[in-house]
Amino acid sequence: MKKIVFALIFAIISYASIPTSAYDLPQEVKVALNASGLAQSINFQCSGGMYTSSKYIGEDAPGSGTSDATEKPKTENGVLAFGETLTVKVRDGGGLILNGLEFSEDQIDIHPYGEYIKYEGKGYRGYYRLVRKNNGILVINCVGLEDYLYGVVGREMSESFPIEALKAQAICARNYTVMGMNNHSSDGYNLCNGVHCQAYGGVSSEGEKVRKAVDETKGTLMYYKGNVVQAYYFSCDGGYTEDSENVWVSALGYLRGVEDDFENPNEASNYNWKVTLTAEDIKNALAAKKIDIGDITNVEVTEYSSNRHAVTLKITGTKDTKTYTKDNIRSAFSAVKTLNSTLFTIKKEGSGLSIYTLSDKGLSKREIGSSYVLTSEGLTQLESSDASSYTFEGRGWGHSVGMSQWGAKAMADKGYTFDEILKYYFTDVEIG
Ligand SMILES: [Zn+2]
Repeated sequence: MKKIVFALIFAIISYASIPTSAYDLPQEVKVALNASGLAQSINFQCSGGMYTSSKYIGEDAPGSGTSDATEKPKTENGVLAFGETLTVKVRDGGGLILNGLEFSEDQIDIHPYGEYIKYEGKGYRGYYRLVRKNNGILVINCVGLEDYLYGVVGREMSESFPIEALKAQAICARNYTVMGMNNHSSDGYNLCNGVHCQAYGGVSSEGEKVRKAVDETKGTLMYYKGNVVQAYYFSCDGGYTEDSENVWVSALGYLRGVEDDFENPNEASNYNWKVTLTAEDIKNALAAKKIDIGDITNVEVTEYSSNRHAVTLKITGTKDTKTYTKDNIRSAFSAVKTLNSTLFTIKKEGSGLSIYTLSDKGLSKREIGSSYVLTSEGLTQLESSDASSYTFEGRGWGHSVGMSQWGAKAMADKGYTFDEILKYYFTDVEIG
């Protein structure tokens, strides 16, 4: 009975916490700044000084023996103040050492007096949480949501872009943050500062226009059928965005491919791209992934989506075949070269088998892919195999799901507002 009552209460609480139209925005986000490389010693600077509320070992004890009470740093109002520089080290047997003072705790918060605390030369708003982890120190920046977004929008989009594009980016970034709050919850923080969660550069990536874009959309999120959406974005789509299920797994109603009428090929960086791989390059790229299908005899797209993106890429070898699908296609040859997008065609060159035709203009070489021979079974197209190189001719840069940043810029240049931009790239969404 007790269990049932408890389950019922839990169910009511759970139900009540599900957002319907308005969403409870997180007040603070915890962002790891060095998750990929913990250090044993870290330096911080802050022109106004720094403080902690944690107590160091021996802080309360009267001076005796080797330590003299009069030499101990004073704590006032329960906080211990440091000067403009702070060096944090790992302490033998557990805890941390701050400017020579030993702390038994494995987690210590450091706050600034006024100015931002600088870590590796860069200032970050809010305060820092230092966590001893695997014999190293993890640096976490604890920062208000909107303050965090200043440092994301400035990293993810150029400040030279028009304000309406920056505002659309700010909303995408806010949605993306809200949806990613549990990305690293088992590690003791919400988000990392890399592209996995969104690039975050702190105060140094901010600009006046970026802050204005965040301020003017403060608290605004994008919804689909009452739920906060996963607002994916990317650099450039080359003319067509893609349905979510053709890139990843789930078909989401608001992530539908659209024909992009706005991107400007003359200004978008990497709008056109070309990658040539020899049969040997492809063999080597597969070998780097411990895949051996023998010598490469053919590479072809066997399925394109209605949005013109490659969905299935088949590589044929003398021993076996290997197939890549959806977004994995971009990294199929990553050991040698990554493909910028899945919007491409393949041109084959240098076939080992060449067909020549004799006409009144002399001997001319024929494209293998369009050559036919007459057999007892009728006309058969010759397989375009054994090419010595494959040229991927593509457009766009990124996964192509959601908002194109270069498209957002082009729309804003034409006078479209941030909500018009978002509603163009995200299907049937509401903004509020
Ligand atoms: Zn992450």
